[in-house]
Amino acid sequence: MGIAYLLAKASGKLLKVNFNIPLVLVLSILPDIDIIFQFLFGSNIHRGPTHSIIVAILVFIPVFIIYRKKATPYFAALASHSLIADFFIGGQIQLLWPLSTREFGLPELGFPYISINSPINVVLEFTIFVIATVVMFKTRDIHVFFKKRKINLVLAVPIFTVLLPTFVGYPIHVPFLLVLPHLFYLVLFAIAVLIVLKDVF
Ligand SMILES: [Zn+2]
Repeated sequence: MGIAYLLAKASGKLLKVNFNIPLVLVLSILPDIDIIFQFLFGSNIHRGPTHSIIVAILVFIPVFIIYRKKATPYFAALASHSLIADFFIGGQIQLLWPLSTREFGLPELGFPYISINSPINVVLEFTIFVIATVVMFKTRDIHVFFKKRKINLVLAVPIFTVLLPTFVGYPIHVPFLLVLPHLFYLVLFAIAVLIVLKDVF
C-alpha cells in the first residue's frame, strides 16, 4: 500500500491529476483477493490470474478510454502489486496469464528467493511504510481518512482481507517490526469506515 500510494502520488504530480487515496490503497491489495478464493475453493491460484499484468491492462482499457490520464495513478497502484512488490518478494507470479502460465519474479531470474518473513523484506516494508506515512502527513493527505465520504467504505476491503485476518490467527503471522504498520493501517481504516457509518446506525 505504501508503494502504491507513493507511485500514485508521483504519477499524479507528473500528470497534474488528483486521485482518491482510499481507492488507490484498495487497488494495490486487490490482486490478493485470490487468497480468499484459495481459502474457499482450495484451488492453488494465489499469484495467478489476479496478479496478471495482462488482466490489469484489459481491465483498465475502458477506464483509460473514459478517464484518460486521470486513470494513471490507479493503474500504477494496481500494477505495482505484481510488478514491484510481489515480483521482488516471493516471485512466482503468473504475470502473462492467460497468454502464458509461466511464473515471474526475482527468483525466476536467478536471484535469491526473498520470503515475506525475511529480514530484507521486513526492513524494506517498514522503510516504505515510514516514507509513505511521512508524505501522507506532510501533504495533509491523512485528512482524507477523517472526512465523511462514502467512498471511504472501500477501506473495508483491506480491513477484512489483509489486515484483520493476520491478527485474528494465533500465533500472529506478522513479523514483529511490521505489527506497527499493520495496526496503523487497521486503526486508520477502521476510523475512516466508522466515520461514514456513524450516521447509518
Ligand atoms: Zn499478491
